[in-house]
Amino acid sequence: MSKKRVVIKVGTNVMTNKDNRIVGPILNELVRQIAVLYENDIACVLVSSGSAIAGKEILGDCAAQDPSIRRQIFSSVGQPRMMRHYYSLFHSFGMRCAQVLATKRDFAAGKYRENMINCYEGLLSEGIIPIANEDDAVSLTMSMFSDNDELASLVAELIQADALILLTDTDGLYTGHPDAEDSKKLNAVHTDENVEKYVQESNKAEGEGRGGMESKLKIAKETARKNIITYIANGKRKNVIVDIMDGKDIGTKFHA
Ligand code: GLU
Repeated sequence: MSKKRVVIKVGTNVMTNKDNRIVGPILNELVRQIAVLYENDIACVLVSSGSAIAGKEILGDCAAQDPSIRRQIFSSVGQPRMMRHYYSLFHSFGMRCAQVLATKRDFAAGKYRENMINCYEGLLSEGIIPIANEDDAVSLTMSMFSDNDELASLVAELIQADALILLTDTDGLYTGHPDAEDSKKLNAVHTDENVEKYVQESNKAEGEGRGGMESKLKIAKETARKNIITYIANGKRKNVIVDIMDGKDIGTKFHA
């Protein structure tokens, strides 16, 4: 294992516009940056949400009333659409990608975990970019991740990543509401600092996806404690991933 490894998580809030439509140029910019990192000997795993919203784009609505069944329908219809986007984007950069769906069960010690490790190691050694998402079609109740931030953290641990980047739609963790004048972005956080007090009610959960700043903060601290540097940064900012890996002071960094 020679290359540096980074796990990049992109949530639904980053890739959609106000009308909840997936924005192609955002996905393109994401893939372009992964291609730049790859050329610089940094291997990436992309953890991408978007299946549920892509399914809603296709179906509009569905007759099912049960929220779990609705989620299963939308996400299983939308997941191949997401992969079609990614397949053609990676192809346009001369790269190959693969889909790795998982439930929480797959990360528990034992055979499932071993299978996951072999799959990621196999793909990475072939220079293929794994694209992970929760297997929303079958992952319900006990086997569900709290959100894809948790999945991203588990993948980072599994592949012994050097860094985890959680992309969201704000520039990082702020001392108040990101839009408030007296609110400041925290550039770096140590895992023992009490920064939870800064999370705003309004920003605890994020629109269409699960997760939100509260969960990101918890996951960022947990991951940093596992000795993986973790960043929360703005996925809509141009070149954000490359700049972070270049050591620029972007987003909020959680020291390992
Ligand atoms: N797996 C869900 C999706 O692809 C998203 C979960 C989350 O928002 O964290 O839509």
